[in-house]
Amino acid sequence: MTVPEPGAAPSGDRATLQAGERVLLIDAKARRYLVTLRPGTDFHTHVGIVAHDDVIGAPEGATILGSTGRRFIVLRPTLADVVLKMPRGAQVIYPKDLGAILIEADVGPGVRVLEAGVGSGALSMALVRAGADVVGYELRPDFAQRARSNVVAELGDDASWRVELRDVYDGIDERGLDRVVLDLPEPWRVLPHAATAMRPGGIVCAYLPTINQTAQLRAALDAGPYGMARTVEVLHRTWHIEDRSVRPDHRMVGHTGFITTARLLVPEAPPMPRADAAS
Ligand code: SAH
Repeated sequence: MTVPEPGAAPSGDRATLQAGERVLLIDAKARRYLVTLRPGTDFHTHVGIVAHDDVIGAPEGATILGSTGRRFIVLRPTLADVVLKMPRGAQVIYPKDLGAILIEADVGPGVRVLEAGVGSGALSMALVRAGADVVGYELRPDFAQRARSNVVAELGDDASWRVELRDVYDGIDERGLDRVVLDLPEPWRVLPHAATAMRPGGIVCAYLPTINQTAQLRAALDAGPYGMARTVEVLHRTWHIEDRSVRPDHRMVGHTGFITTARLLVPEAPPMPRADAAS
């Protein structure tokens, strides 16, 4: 077995950073800049200028010197980095909630998902990256366009994802879906459509900012052909770990949203009339 030298770049196409790729530059104060590499171009930060040509051809993880001698670490961004840095129309779902939605809604390779609304496309990217086939419904053309450019920039043109400009409250055309994932204000209005569009056993998942909306959704789920309803919120607390100072960070994102899921059930058939009761 050949053991790579310590610090050696991996072999293959991704060994070095290429023109056209998106990279993350991180300065000494941990500020992050998302940059698309273009030959002959400079990236200006208030702590100095970085020549793209110094980054192109460097291995991922390298330290690049800026014009003022400041150092920048260069890495390919993670999906979480991209979501927090990409152009947004609508508010995106935070990475901590994206991760939870994938598990709560049990999204994996080949799973057929209807997503509404699409917004900036953050959840779309997480769903497609998990291997799902995704159809998105979005009301606003500007958001649909933004989502499309975000998804294509991250996952390429051939991603198993498309967006349709339409109101999901009016109905869902797809049939035999495995999942319906909702990030819009009144998900209870989608439940009757989801019950027709999904196969039994499918999961509906809704992300809501307030508990009032969540309670209304839960009541609607109780009144429909759904079961196993469950609501979770994700509290995410990072820690400061430095020498003898080991404690939670002072700041955290206190609230984002509630994630509710339920399974589509087959309605129980009414009891058969007994033969001897017929006469
Ligand atoms: N989950 C997205 C953000 C969605 S924001 C992300 O991670 O980026 C909510 C979106 O729902 C908005 O873009 C809004 O235009 C859309 N929307 C609201 N009501 C809708 C409806 N009835 N049908 C389709 N889209 C709707």
